[in-house]
Amino acid sequence: MAYQNAFGVVRDLQFRGGSAKYYSLPALQQSGFPGVARLPYSLKILLENLLRHEDNASVKPVDIQALANWDHASDVEKEIAFTPARVLLQDFTGVPAVVDLAAMRDAMARLGGDPNRVNPLQPMELVIDHSVQVDHYGTPDAFHLNAELEYARNRERYTFLRWGQNAFANFRVVPPETGIVHQVNLEYLARVVFRADRGGVAWAYPDTLVGTDSHTTMVNGLGVVGWGVGGIEAEAAMLGQPISMLIPPVVGFRLEGSLPAGTTATDLVLTVTERLRRHGVVGKFVEFFGPGLASLSLADRATLSNMCPEYGATVAIFPIDAMTIDYLRLTGRDDSSVALVEAYAKAQGLFADEQSPEADYNEVIELDLDSIEPSLAGPKRPQDRVPLSAARAKFAAALPQMLAERKAPASPAAAAVTGPPIDHGAVVVAAITSCTNTSNPSVLIAAGLLARKAVERGLTRKPWVKTSLAPGSKVVTEYLEKAGLADSLDTIGFNLVGYGCTTCIGNSGPLPDEVAAQIEARGLIVASVLSGNRNFEGRVQPLVRANYLASPPLVVAYALAGTMDLDLTSEPLGHDRAGAPVYLKDIWPSEREIQECIAGSITAEMYREVYAGVFDGDDRWKAIAPPAGDRFAWDDASTYVRNPPYFDGLTLKAPPPQPISGARVLAVLGDSITTDHISPAGNIKADSPAGRYLQERGVPPKDFNQYGARRGNHEVMMRGTFANIRLKNQLVPGTEGGVTAFLPGGEVMPIFDAAMKYKAAGVPLVILAGKEYGSGSSRDWAAKGTALLGVKAVIAESFERIHRSNLVNMGLLPLQFPSGQSVAALRLTGQETFEIVGAADALAPRGTVTVEATAPDGSVKAFEARVRIDTPEELVAFRNGGILPYVLRQLLKKK
Ligand code: SF4
Repeated sequence: MAYQNAFGVVRDLQFRGGSAKYYSLPALQQSGFPGVARLPYSLKILLENLLRHEDNASVKPVDIQALANWDHASDVEKEIAFTPARVLLQDFTGVPAVVDLAAMRDAMARLGGDPNRVNPLQPMELVIDHSVQVDHYGTPDAFHLNAELEYARNRERYTFLRWGQNAFANFRVVPPETGIVHQVNLEYLARVVFRADRGGVAWAYPDTLVGTDSHTTMVNGLGVVGWGVGGIEAEAAMLGQPISMLIPPVVGFRLEGSLPAGTTATDLVLTVTERLRRHGVVGKFVEFFGPGLASLSLADRATLSNMCPEYGATVAIFPIDAMTIDYLRLTGRDDSSVALVEAYAKAQGLFADEQSPEADYNEVIELDLDSIEPSLAGPKRPQDRVPLSAARAKFAAALPQMLAERKAPASPAAAAVTGPPIDHGAVVVAAITSCTNTSNPSVLIAAGLLARKAVERGLTRKPWVKTSLAPGSKVVTEYLEKAGLADSLDTIGFNLVGYGCTTCIGNSGPLPDEVAAQIEARGLIVASVLSGNRNFEGRVQPLVRANYLASPPLVVAYALAGTMDLDLTSEPLGHDRAGAPVYLKDIWPSEREIQECIAGSITAEMYREVYAGVFDGDDRWKAIAPPAGDRFAWDDASTYVRNPPYFDGLTLKAPPPQPISGARVLAVLGDSITTDHISPAGNIKADSPAGRYLQERGVPPKDFNQYGARRGNHEVMMRGTFANIRLKNQLVPGTEGGVTAFLPGGEVMPIFDAAMKYKAAGVPLVILAGKEYGSGSSRDWAAKGTALLGVKAVIAESFERIHRSNLVNMGLLPLQFPSGQSVAALRLTGQETFEIVGAADALAPRGTVTVEATAPDGSVKAFEARVRIDTPEELVAFRNGGILPYVLRQLLKKK
């Protein structure tokens, strides 16, 4: 940590159990920056980050001055470099990241360096949670059987991660069936304040992170600044590269009052999502403050922060306060760490109490917690909140549209299928799932108490409901058992199915045959009720069109009801053994019951015991023999993990930049092309290039798995690039799917096949596109795949922020049409060849280049395109062929 200290603000901090140096914000304030005191909490964290990383290159004194003088009333844009303290991964995105590190080690060795010097420079933690699926449910052995299947399906990926766990320093893996990434982060991994020894000196600084999962924001509930990024950004961060960002607008969200009896944090977050989505907070930081905070438990806050991507903000943060300190103690953090957090936060003006001055925000929104009512959200979007009292009517109102959108039902003969008596609105999936809620003891205890009362009254789930309980940590099992509630949940069918994302990520597994057959034959619009955070059509279960997000106790209630065609606020859920009606209000637990149960069943010791073995894994994990060696022994027969070619032919010195000349157009695309259009995550079609590749290697279509699980194999992923079945390429009008015209000549073929033919002929490629190119989830394979197809530049009307940066970090040139110009306005057809004048030697961040398009008749159109390499650091990465070769060369230079 040999950084500069231009403002002279390093101070000493004493806390119970130790001392450390730190970069003091109050000292900066006193040195001529009075506005620091009124900065929002999140901007104070970013300011400390700049102070600590000032190096006169990425971070200059002028950057620190700009943030210290931040004016909430000004809309001047200022770019800063943020260096997160750690990186968090889940297994879908983590496998390709570790594949890249393994490939870097090989390249390091090839170039005469020490492969062992390739390691994450920042702590990197990966939680395996995305792969378990609910195949078995409702029985005592469901957990065991699902875990067996998970290991059978993912052995190759897990063997690779076992190797990585041993081979890399600074890298830890939380094995499968341990927990869900964000809940494990909240309960154990988050340091809140880091303490690190550098050169014999102890330093204290805020815990900050980026994660390769959009709900990384959940840890914002603990006062930790962090958000979700694409894999390439995460890889750059883990290798010590700062992340370029604009100082964000900050929206203050003032909370008053307290939640009324009978409502939950889930009801609150669905209301906040509705409100903020309507208001518009995309690209902004949201900061919660006000007297209402005191009534929200830390777990309630984490639930609010978790759904940040659903309302569109980058960060949704709470300050550190007494509640934070209590939570750290409850979750078994050691005394000295807790003392450090408290002392550091107080010394830095980051600790909130009644005396804290209100920060200046760009704008302020207010919400009275007393106004919250029991709610669901659906049937298709998380922001479409439905009051519980209106759920029946709202489903009925949405039904005609959903009927119109469905596939026509099978023939009348097929409709004679026998099975359970279900109709439109049947609830066929009821899942207590997602770290959003399973991290919150109050809603899980409420679900357990409701289950107990239901069992006592003789109620049970309807037989067509697929029920599951998938907590995000083993602590949940411990406290449900200690509270005596696990048996009641089991009795209703909410047996443990796994510790992982399950239904929340769409791994809900198949429906029972007789239920699926009825839905398909009769074209039924059926429903799921889940305590998750996303309900887009097709995400939860392919046969379920209506998906409702709700609190865990409401999930149990809908399992009992078995249908959306019931008003749970006025109609009975069922009848008891004596034939008396049982209403939801009869079995809904009181707040006192919930709190007494929490107090009697959850202890710090429980968290300490569970997390003492968090990196150990079960016998299945231990039985995987990790390959030995510092370098991975790639298996040529593997269809899951392969050595990517990013470093093939890499030289110690970056070669001179190559001109882009005589380039052909691989695709002409319209507006709002998402990363899923560019690199789909879902099914692999048997007759697609990726499907053919797998079948040629003996993988039958039933074992294809999805593109998401194959991200460790670049051969599959590059064949899947632009393979989305909904992609419309204007080079072949009237078609859908990943096809293009090979030029000249115009033969129509899969985009991958055309790209390989161009590559063989030494022809560089460009993509032409409209507005918001690369929107949707941050997906590094959208840039990696494009690069591997041989594309050198993407010329679009505008780019999504993360995808633009991913393109540069893969060595591709993002160019923007001049204002008012587009493919249509310039009358480009895609049949032209392209020359990008100056691509080799005259590029400047945010500069311009001349693009010349030569039509088949020899006529030339020229236009000035804006270079969307936005910073000098990005230009360096681009000139090196991408961030990974750049970092590798830096490491080699230091040998
Ligand atoms: Fe993301 Fe859901 Fe998994 Fe949590 S449970 S990490 S929100 S997929």
